[in-house]
This record gives sequence, C-alpha cells and structure tokens, in this order.
Amino acid sequence: MRIVVVGAGLGGVAAAVGLHRLGHEVTLFERGAELREAGTGIVVMPNGLRALDTLGLAEDIRGHVTHATGGGLRDWRGRPLLVTDLTQAQQVIGTPVMIDRAELHRALRAPLPADVVRTTTLVERLEPDATGVTVISEGGPVARADAVIAADGIGSKLRAQLFPGHPGLRRTGRMDLRGMLPRPADLATDLLASQLVDRRSGAMFGLFPVGDSRLYWFTDSVLDGTPPDAAEAREQMLSLMADWHPLVTALIEATPPADIYVDPITRLAEPLPSFVAGRIALLGDAAHAMPPDLGQGASQAFEDAAAVTRHLIDAEPADVAERLLRYDAERRPSANRMMRAASRQSRLTSQTGVAAWLRDTMLRAVPSRLATRQLAALWKA
Ligand SMILES: Cc1cc2nc3c(=O)[nH]c(=O)nc-3n(C[C@H](O)[C@H](O)[C@H](O)COP(=O)(O)OP(=O)(O)OC[C@H]3O[C@@H](n4cnc5c(N)ncnc54)[C@H](O)[C@@H]3O)c2cc1C
Repeated sequence: MRIVVVGAGLGGVAAAVGLHRLGHEVTLFERGAELREAGTGIVVMPNGLRALDTLGLAEDIRGHVTHATGGGLRDWRGRPLLVTDLTQAQQVIGTPVMIDRAELHRALRAPLPADVVRTTTLVERLEPDATGVTVISEGGPVARADAVIAADGIGSKLRAQLFPGHPGLRRTGRMDLRGMLPRPADLATDLLASQLVDRRSGAMFGLFPVGDSRLYWFTDSVLDGTPPDAAEAREQMLSLMADWHPLVTALIEATPPADIYVDPITRLAEPLPSFVAGRIALLGDAAHAMPPDLGQGASQAFEDAAAVTRHLIDAEPADVAERLLRYDAERRPSANRMMRAASRQSRLTSQTGVAAWLRDTMLRAVPSRLATRQLAALWKA
C-alpha cells in the first residue's frame, strides 16, 4: 500500500518507520531542508517507551535513563510540597528517559532509508476521492496515496483543512523557556526531577539531568502579549526568580541566550471530533496539542504511531477507512484524556493567591506513598 506521512517531527518519523517496516511503500514529506529536531531535552515517559518498543525503536533510547531518585513539587525556595519517590514509581511502571531532542530524533529516523524521505516539500493540502488521496505541495501534486498520516505538528494546516469548523489553537497565556547546560560539579541533587512553583507569581521552574554530564531546565510563567526574544526573556526570568532557590538563577545565568528556547504555550481550543477523515489520519500534536506540563506530548505521538502501525498491518487499499476508524477509536479517548489532564496540571501549577496557598497546604498533607502511586498511575495512562 502507498502511505504518505506529512511531517518529520518525532511522531511522523516514528510512524514512517513503523509503516515502512510493515512493508508498505512509505513517503515522508517534510517542509524543512533536512531531518532534524531543534531544542533542548525531552522526557519520554514509560508509556511512550512502551510504544517505541512495539515499533522496535526503544533500544537506543533506553540507554538514556533518568538517574534521579527524588521528584515532585517544591515551593520557590526548594522546600518540599509534594514528594514522590521516583525509584519506587519506576519499579511499578517503568523508567522515563530524559534525552537530548536531537539525539532522540536521530535514533528514531536511523532505520529510514533515504529514498523514503522528501525534504523541502511543504504539503499545502490533501485531495481525497473514492480511490485514494492526492497530496498537493506548492508546485502541484507530489504523490498519490492509499492512506495519509498527517503529523504536521501543533500548527497543522491539514487539521484545519479536515476540520474547518474546529476553532484550532488557543494560547494559554503562558510561556516556557528551556535551556541545557553542562552539569555543575557541586549540584544540589535533591532538586533534580523536581518542579518549583511560586504561589506569588504562578511561575514554575523544573530541572532534569540529561545523561551524567548535562542538565535540562525549563520555566513556565505568564506571557503578556508577544513573546520576548531569548535574551530579554532570560532577563525577565532572572528578575522574576531573584529570590528563588539560588540554584535556579545560577543555572539560568549560566545558560547563554543562544541556548535558550522561548515558546508561547498553545493547546487545542477543544478536542477534535475525530482523528480521522476517510483515508487520512491525524497524529501527534496535529491531533491533540496539549500544554507541556505532564511531559506527554511526544509520548502520546509515539502511542499514535504504534497504534496506526498496528491497525495497518496487512491492510489493503480497500480496508484503509475502516482500519483508521479503529485507530481513532483506540487513540482519541485516551489522548484527549491526557490533553485535559495536562491543561488541569497547567492550571494547578500556575495558580496564585488564596487558591495557590490552599494548593500548597493540601499538597504538603499528601503522604509520599500516595503521591508516588498517583505519579505511577499517570505514567501508566
Ligand atoms: C516547551 C515545551 C516542552 C515540551 N516538553 C516535552 C517533554 O518533555 N516530553 C514530551 O513528550 N513532550 C514535550 N513537549 C511536546 C512535544 O515536543 C511535542 O508533543 C512533539 O514534539 C510533537 O511531535 P509531532 O511529530 O506531533 O510534531 P512536530 O515535532 O511539531 O513535527 C511536525 C513536523 O512537520 C513539519 N511540517 C509542518 N507542516 C508541514 C507541512 N505542511 N508539510 C510538510 N511538513 C510539515 C514540521 O517542519 C515538523 O518537522 C514539549 C513542548 C513544548 C512546547
């Protein structure tokens, strides 16, 4: 069967590998000039790793295990609010991986033969008819397919084409800064894998090790208007977090603006009525863009890739619409549940005032065993 995948991000590449390994004739279109993933670190949760296992893609990635035993939420000075035991949660559910985004993308795309990939091709629209789908780029038709997997990311053109009545993306009024740097020798390890929250401003800072030699940090704070550039955003964060745990400002200061990424946070305004329209399926952020608060965006995309691959085993062109409906039935309820949970988590960590004071008081009262069980349940999702 001829299958086109649009978008060579983490989700699209994983799906292209899975479908190619089934023996389908896959073409992967990417608008960029090369296959790459920019950015800092990324957490792949145990559910994402299990999905990559079924695609035969997890082996390399499992080497990047997160060596952190603590975790949970702390206040801005680093005092514990909700303490989880990562080691215990990992024994129940499996281990998350913290990996450099570029390394993850490299490992995922390694099995793809070069002739499967067409870079510098922006897919403008899809024209489905009774027997297949014509894929249209800026210069005209570029392929004819029996099935199309649209993995064109959070700003998906194809989602808008398939569901013109859907309101699309909504800004959450927050921005994230992300940075990666060499791990200082004298690092206070009790903060690793923790998130610090500040009930006065609603800002958040998180910290993870990437291998043994690097650190990945991220912040989340209010965004008024247009996102600032990296240098200005870094200054804003240093001023906002001036009286936080000293490690926070030390790490931000040690990261040059060129290594800092600034993202306004957006999510789907509402869940899609379907991930599928006939022979076309949406996958990853195109289907369920969510705030990054649960670190689940890519893991959900990997679950999509594993599911669409499984449902297209031995498929013939005449089966596609029916098989993709099974993909939708499997993935839409759980991905939408995760999207709602991520929005809830985002609201919880960004609270201010009395609500945040109550949140902190309640979190302090949750026993570590219960918090760990809840963390494990979340990863299992
Ligand atoms: C600040 C931040 C932190 C995050 N942290 C985590 C984390 O720790 N863990 C986690 O799991 N997730 C995290 N996420 C989410 C995660 O990055 C995304 O969910 C994931 O990258 C989505 O992958 P994707 O393949 O669906 O889309 P993308 O990675 O966006 O890929 C889309 C691809 O399609 C291409 N494309 C777009 N349009 C077209 C077109 N018309 N024609 C051809 N090509 C096209 C693009 O160039 C791109 O290569 C985070 C997100 C943010 C913003």
